[in-house]
Amino acid sequence: MSRHRNVRGYNYDEDFEDDDVYGQSVEDDYCISPSTAAQFIYSRRDKPAMCAEPLEEEGYGYEARLNSCLDQMREVLAESVPEQKMVQAVLDSKFDVQKALDLVLSQGSKQNVKTKNEDTVTVGKTTKEFQRNPGGANVLQFNGKARDSQSARMESEIVPKITKMTVSGKKQSMGFEVPCVIAEENGHANTPQKGLLTEDASVASGVLQAVSKSALLPQVAQVSEEQNMVPTPVKKSSKTKLQIDVKAELEKRQGGKQLLNLVVIGHVDAGKSTLMGHLLYLLGNVNKRTMHKYEQESKKAGKASFAYAWVLDETGEERERGVTMDVGMTKFETKTKVITLMDAPGHKDFIPNMITGAAQADVAILVVDASRGEFEAGFETGGQTREHGLLVRSLGVTQLAVAVNKMDQVNWQQERFQEITSKLGQFLKQAGFKESDVAYIPTSGLGGENLVTRGQSSDLTQWYKGKCLLEQIDSFKPPQRSVDKPFRLCVADVFKDQGSGFCVTGKIEAGYIQVGERLLAMPPNETCTAKGITLHDEPVDWAAAGDHVSLTLTGMDIIKINVGCVFCDPKEPIKVCTRFRARVLIFNIEVPITKGFPVLLHYQTISEPATIRKLLSVLHKSTGEVTKKKPKFLSKGQNALIELQTQRPVALELYKDFKELGRFMLRYSGSTIAAGVVTEIKE
Ligand code: GDP
Repeated sequence: MSRHRNVRGYNYDEDFEDDDVYGQSVEDDYCISPSTAAQFIYSRRDKPAMCAEPLEEEGYGYEARLNSCLDQMREVLAESVPEQKMVQAVLDSKFDVQKALDLVLSQGSKQNVKTKNEDTVTVGKTTKEFQRNPGGANVLQFNGKARDSQSARMESEIVPKITKMTVSGKKQSMGFEVPCVIAEENGHANTPQKGLLTEDASVASGVLQAVSKSALLPQVAQVSEEQNMVPTPVKKSSKTKLQIDVKAELEKRQGGKQLLNLVVIGHVDAGKSTLMGHLLYLLGNVNKRTMHKYEQESKKAGKASFAYAWVLDETGEERERGVTMDVGMTKFETKTKVITLMDAPGHKDFIPNMITGAAQADVAILVVDASRGEFEAGFETGGQTREHGLLVRSLGVTQLAVAVNKMDQVNWQQERFQEITSKLGQFLKQAGFKESDVAYIPTSGLGGENLVTRGQSSDLTQWYKGKCLLEQIDSFKPPQRSVDKPFRLCVADVFKDQGSGFCVTGKIEAGYIQVGERLLAMPPNETCTAKGITLHDEPVDWAAAGDHVSLTLTGMDIIKINVGCVFCDPKEPIKVCTRFRARVLIFNIEVPITKGFPVLLHYQTISEPATIRKLLSVLHKSTGEVTKKKPKFLSKGQNALIELQTQRPVALELYKDFKELGRFMLRYSGSTIAAGVVTEIKE
C-alpha cells in the first residue's frame, strides 16, 4: 500500500508548498467523510454548496467561480466529460459542485433514477431535495443537521467513512513525550483556510517522506489514530447521570447487532485493500462518484487495478494531517454485526502500526495471494504472512478467516487452494490457532467474487460450497467484553475540537463510560470530565468495552495528554511503572538475547524504548515450570521470565487482571523478537 502513496504523493507534490505535517485534516472535496478535523467539518456542515458561498463572500468574479468549480469537477471526472458539459452542469446547478457532479454522472441513468426514486428532481430545484435526501445516515449525521434519517437513500450519495491511524513521519517521539506541536497543530482549528492548505501540503510532501522515513526508522514511528468526527458534546451533568444496565443496553444497541473489530492482515500486495475496498463498494458503502474518481485517477497514474484499493488507501491520504496513513478504519454491517474494519499495512516497515491495529482487533482476515510464486514469497521467512499470523495470535486474536485471494489468477483451481490451505493450516496450528477457529475462503478481490455473495463461476462452484467472505465475517463469534471491569481506554489520538475541551480517541478496553463521568488519565495522573462521547460518528450517552470512541474532555490541559495515556476509573486506577516482569515467548531470532538488550516495547498504542534488565528464568513451554534460573542468554523458541525497564513511565495492567491490557510485543531492529504478557509490576 505504501507504493500507491508514493505514486499518489508524486502527483500532488508539486501543487503544494507548505509541508507542515500538522496541518488540519482535509478530505477529498467530494467524498464527504468525517475524517476531517473539527473546524473543517464545521465549515462544511452548513455549506454543502461548496464553492458558491465562500467565493461570493470573498468577492470572486463570475469567471473565477466557474473555473474554481470546473477545477473541482475535473478532480473527480478527469477528462472523461467534455468541458462544455461540465460548464453547463455548473451553470444549471448554480455553481454547486456537488450537484453539478451528480448531474453529469447521473445523466446516463437519469431516466432510471427518476422512475426508481421520486426524490430525484430537475436541477434548479435540487438544493433542497438533495439536502433532504442525502444518502442516509452517513451524510445526515455528517452534515450535522437534524434530518430525517428515514429519508430514502440515494445510492449515488452514499459516502465511505474512513478513519486512519497515522504514522507521522515528523512526529518521531514515542511513549509519553508530549510534542508541544500538538497545541500548535490544534491551533489550526481556528484557521480553517490555512488548515485546508497545510493539510494538502502535508499529504503531498508526507506521502513521499513517509515511505523513506519509515523505512529508516520504523521502530520510532508514533502511531496515532485519527477519528473522523467531531463529537457533539451532549450536555448532561454527572448529577443527572442515570444508572444503566450496560449488558442489557448493549444487546439492544445498533438494532441488536453486536460490534466486532476486524483487522485485515497479510503480505504486501496480497490484495488486502482491493479486497476490502471492493467489499465496501459491493455493500454500498462507497458512492459511485467516489469510485469514478478513483478509477479515473488510478488510470491516470497508470495503476488502473488499484481503484478499489484506493477506497481504503487513497481517501486517507487526502484526509490525513499526518504523513503516512497506516491503518485505515471504516465501518460496515453484516446481517448480525456492525464491523469496525481496520486495514493494516502489509509492508514490513509498517509492522509497528499493524501491531497497533491488531491490538485493537477481535478477529482477523489474513489475505494471501494464490498466484504461483506469490503465496510462497509471502509465506517464506521474511514474508509477512507468517509474521502477521504470529503477531495477531500473540495479541490475542483467536478467530481467523483466510482469504485465499487472486484465485482468478490460478483459474480457481481446487488443487492450488488445497496446497495453500494445507501449508497455512500447519503453520497456523503451530502459531496457536485452533483448527475450528480458522476458515479458508477462495476470493478474487479484483473481480469481486465470493465477497458479499457466493461465487457464481462454475470453476469455483464445482468444488467450493462454503461461505463467502461476508458470511464468514458474520459468523465470527464476538469476544467476551470486560464490561464489568473498571474503565480503561488507551489513547490513540488527541486533538482539539471547537469547544472548550479537547478530544481523545481510542478503544475502550474495559468497563463502560457515561457522559458526565470523571476520569483519571495515567500518566499524568490528573482527572477530567467526559463531556461527550461519540461512537461511529454519533453522539451517545454511554459506551462500553470493545467500542472505538471519541471522548470530549474538559477540566484538563490538552498538553498533558499523549498517545498511549490510559484513561481510567479514578477509583480503580491503572498502575504506572518503568519496571515490570513478564513472561515472554522468543520468536525466530538470529542473535541470542542477553541482559541489557535494547528493545522497543509495543504496547497498545505506544512504542517505547526499553531494556531487558534481567533474565530471570527459562520456563517449560507447556507446564511453565522453571527449567533454568538466571540464564546467560535466551534463544529462539524459548519461554522465559524477564524484567524490563522502560525509558519513561508506562501505564500497564497484569495479564491475569486484564487480558486485553496485559499483552505486548518486543521488537528490535525492525523485527519482532518476542511476545509477552505482564506478570508483575515493580515500580
Ligand atoms: P495490498 O498491498 O495487500 O493492500 O494489495 P493491493 O490491494 O494494493 O493489491 C495489489 C495488487 O494486486 C493490485 O494491482 C491489485 O489490483 C491486485 N489484485 C488485488 N486483488 C486481486 C485479485 O483478486 N485478482 C487479481 N488478478 N489481482 C488482484
